Amino acid sequence: MNNEEKKLQNGPQNGQSQRPARHCGPEKVSNVDDRLQWIQEGLCFNAFGAALRRRFGGRIQRVSIDAGFTCPNVDGAVTRGGCNFCDNRSFSPSRRVRLASVIDQMQRGIAAVTKRYDKVAGFIAYLQPATNTYGPIDQLEALYRAALEVSPHVVGLAIGTRPDCVPDEVLDLIDVLAARHYVSLEYGMQTIHDRSLDWMNRGHHHAAMIDAMVRSRGRRFETCGHVILGIPGESHEDMLQTAEEIGHLGLDAVKLHNLYAVRGTPLGDQVAAGQVRMMDRQAYVSTVVDFLERIPPQVIVERVSGEAPPDYLLEPRWCLEKSAIRLEIEREFRRRGSRQGAAYRPSPQRTNPGATADQTPAAIMQKLSRSRVLPVLKL
Ligand code: SF4
Repeated sequence: MNNEEKKLQNGPQNGQSQRPARHCGPEKVSNVDDRLQWIQEGLCFNAFGAALRRRFGGRIQRVSIDAGFTCPNVDGAVTRGGCNFCDNRSFSPSRRVRLASVIDQMQRGIAAVTKRYDKVAGFIAYLQPATNTYGPIDQLEALYRAALEVSPHVVGLAIGTRPDCVPDEVLDLIDVLAARHYVSLEYGMQTIHDRSLDWMNRGHHHAAMIDAMVRSRGRRFETCGHVILGIPGESHEDMLQTAEEIGHLGLDAVKLHNLYAVRGTPLGDQVAAGQVRMMDRQAYVSTVVDFLERIPPQVIVERVSGEAPPDYLLEPRWCLEKSAIRLEIEREFRRRGSRQGAAYRPSPQRTNPGATADQTPAAIMQKLSRSRVLPVLKL
């Protein structure tokens, strides 16, 4: 590794800013680590689409599937009611509509994407709604393998979950699958501030995220942290502290969302009553850039904003303009002459002193051992 690459990976030395003098145009870095290729390509951040294209040699599309899971934050294992922003009525077992099988959903999703886009090199099966590791291990294995084997063009799997719902045996299973496929485990981290996690009714604190990452790091799958910006009561400094944690935790990827409120949720009610205000567009764009400047340059950025279907979305309406928001973020990077990682300060990775075993709550372990109490997954 030459000195230039070391600087890129290690961030600023002796407290000096690593911010480049010129804007984020292409930068020549010889023998560059694949994860830093985006700098040579003149991007402002390590964008997910480009990273997948580099890895698989063409356009990769995610196909979202609902495998019928519920969530320990909904069924009472942790709490009831779920997170205040989550429209979890659809995955409460009592309200569950009959779902198409996982294989059907994948086949239909692949057909729809193929019709819409000309050249798709492959697909990632994305287990998105609810907690997609909240099932008995034999059922999880059957489901994950079925999703991966639907078509030879399925290159991988993305699994959305909570950090308190990944017992070691689940991580072992995902690790085995990752030996042959791309697998991303997406943790709902949201923030490092416990008071904010309590406000959201997450049912876990940041210690659960540290525990999950200490047990996930060094395995063959990628880890992604889902982060929400604009949580009421969080200052700009609070959000940047969450940014600093991305490197401490050793996450491979991050997904940034603005907090948004949809109808029929506790947060939606608070917004409609004027009790909570959403972040404004300009502040969001500027905070995203501040955030990305503070994370390691090799971390993949899977998303820079979040949105909901227009009929459900209450506020902020600006998040519907997803492409424009992204352009504004890139413009702000260029205006500053900056890029992802420009203000990153490396530090030792988080450990979990004193923890000898995984910290998955006993109530979750108990439910996982009694498969009859969890919704049956339909392949
Ligand atoms: S943990 Fe996820 S699925 Fe469960 S209630 Fe919260 S946002 Fe919804």
